[in-house]
Amino acid sequence: MSHLRKFIAIAAVAAVLAGCGGSSTKKTSFDTQGLRAPEGSCSVKPSRIGLAEKIRDIDEGNGCEIPNAWRVQSLGSVSFSNVATMNCGLADPLNDWLENHVQRAARKNFGEDVVSIDVAASFACRARNHKNGAKMSEHGFGNAIDIAGFTLESGRKVTVLDGWRGGRDERRFLASVHEAACGQFRTVLGPDADRHHRDHFHLDLQNRRNGSSYCR
Ligand SMILES: [Zn+2]
Repeated sequence: MSHLRKFIAIAAVAAVLAGCGGSSTKKTSFDTQGLRAPEGSCSVKPSRIGLAEKIRDIDEGNGCEIPNAWRVQSLGSVSFSNVATMNCGLADPLNDWLENHVQRAARKNFGEDVVSIDVAASFACRARNHKNGAKMSEHGFGNAIDIAGFTLESGRKVTVLDGWRGGRDERRFLASVHEAACGQFRTVLGPDADRHHRDHFHLDLQNRRNGSSYCR
């Protein structure tokens, strides 16, 4: 391609981008008020409270990004079924919830500790509930985690799908940890929220304008 043709091609692309304000281009298809986590914004390094390593910042160029990204394999005494990619700020509240609420509820209802959680999703560049054209999910900021189940020391598995309306101990355990999460996260969704959440808890740190929480 000659220099002139190259210039014309670039100018044409720039004109298209400027013309639609970047809002209807393929690259910018999300509208979100998500919490961004600038470098150093989290008080506790995930590697101090779990098995975690800092990875390169994630920026997919379309709004999905994690400026302070970590791969987390466990927090406190709880290991993850899958390595979770998250922003630094999610690890501390998650650890707090696991250590202080989940373990307490597990001892009370089952007489044993939780040793691992089933991580159904962490960072994922996608729209809410996988709906085309919807707002970007907090998963796109590494601000959210989906938890499908809890494994106890004995090997017993408590899943959101079966336990939410299951036996008394599982019902109580899941209701209790769901409720406790409401104090720790900004958005908490479970099976009562909608059909998308019948098999997992969604926990996120969405930064709403009025600072409110949404728990369902
Ligand atoms: Zn989710």
